Amino acid sequence: MHTEQKADCSRTRMERSVRMKTILLLLLMCAAVSNALPIHPEKDNKGEDAKLVEDYLNKFYSVEPDPNQLGWKTNAESTAEKLQKMQRFFGLKVTGKPDTETLEMMKKPRCGVPDVGLYGVTLPGWKKNKLTYRIVNYTPDMSKDDVDKAIQKAFKVWSTVTPLIFTRIHEGIADIMIAFGTKAHGHCPRYFDGPLGVLAHAFPPGDGFGGDAHFDEDEDWTTGSDGFNLFLVAAHEFGHALGLSHSNDQRALMFPNYAYVSPSEFPLSPDDISGIQSIYGSPTKIPDKSPPIPTSPKTCGSQISFDAITTLRREIMFLKGRHLWRVYPDNSEVELELISAFWPTLPSGIQAAYENMKDQILFFKGNKFWVISGYQVLLGYPKNINTLGFPKGVKKIDAAVCNKNTGKTDFFIGDKYWRYDEHSQSMEKGYPRRTVNDFPGISQKVDAVFQHKGFFYFFHGSRQWEFDPTAKKVIREMKSNSWFNC
Ligand SMILES: [Zn+2]
Ligand SMILES: [Zn+2]
Repeated sequence: MHTEQKADCSRTRMERSVRMKTILLLLLMCAAVSNALPIHPEKDNKGEDAKLVEDYLNKFYSVEPDPNQLGWKTNAESTAEKLQKMQRFFGLKVTGKPDTETLEMMKKPRCGVPDVGLYGVTLPGWKKNKLTYRIVNYTPDMSKDDVDKAIQKAFKVWSTVTPLIFTRIHEGIADIMIAFGTKAHGHCPRYFDGPLGVLAHAFPPGDGFGGDAHFDEDEDWTTGSDGFNLFLVAAHEFGHALGLSHSNDQRALMFPNYAYVSPSEFPLSPDDISGIQSIYGSPTKIPDKSPPIPTSPKTCGSQISFDAITTLRREIMFLKGRHLWRVYPDNSEVELELISAFWPTLPSGIQAAYENMKDQILFFKGNKFWVISGYQVLLGYPKNINTLGFPKGVKKIDAAVCNKNTGKTDFFIGDKYWRYDEHSQSMEKGYPRRTVNDFPGISQKVDAVFQHKGFFYFFHGSRQWEFDPTAKKVIREMKSNSWFNC
């Protein structure tokens, strides 16, 4: 008993010293112009690292959305499984072990909302477009006027790209209650952790704490690039308050780690915009000044193009940005989903996809590819496309389709294509060949292609060609959205 207590005490002391070191390290890193400051590992920090890993995984990777409650319930995965999830999310090497790269990522200041909660999908946002907010208290770090401005500007980020209208109230209960606090604060079920680590958290739309955003008063809040920029952190938290979950796209505002962006830049990435517009749609009136409003993911009417298309048994999946549409041609049903709702570790902006002969889907982005079986991303992925037999010079694939009748997969890159044999798992000799030579009528870069009832469907921009591989000719030309009930 006695020794155990002693061990606990020393661990707490060690924790404190880690925190101090972390603070010093991060301060140094902030002060340095370059981030390339060498990090000297401590002689014996195994225990400290284990604690950091345990805390981090418990906070951010141990919960899943509970549709019955405004919160999260715990899942029962092993530490290695959680580590793999975390590593996949951050695009690190998936080792399932707390390597140096992983530990460094875990030390970065970030949002307190878990990365595995997909409530953007299960809790679909506010049922109204007019929302109220109230600033309950202020941080002493900034003038009240600067706090008001930062909060107002953070709401403007989201109202610019949606039909949402935010009105400030000064008393009573607002939809979004904004407060600063430290450690255990108010009746909030989630605690803050002192300086650095977690900076803020927010709750998904709903009553009670729903929509509320809390900021850790132990951080140094600023209007600039020193400390933590309140506007940027608030804009991120309001994304949660509106129903968004974390994005694994490093350029997204909804990426969990803090990153300073110049105030002259609009902080939303295409991923953030398509995310919020999938919940609320685009603005009703187009504002007459910048920033430009990217089109919402609507398939009808507009000049829709697709990033990638693949079949999955009897359905066809159309991918664009962070979304996918599942089309069931037999009963003409269409469902819009977030890619992350199916496969949380896949990036957005998939460039090519195809279904192989084994009921698996292969997704391609840049020189990486993932193999998916059902809801599971197979272990060991992403892999480099070189492992399929592409030479080093090939940096990405535009489109791919497996011909189920021949077991050959064609990869389209620019105006050429490569052929891969699914049975022998090898690239065929004599490729790449000019696409138009073997697919007369397909003279442009292929955005996406899939096979349905024997025919190939090629996509370029808002146009589509139905191709008969036996007769080797284009049969029909159609709009790209002919598969949707427009
Ligand atoms: Zn967050
Ligand atoms: Zn809180």
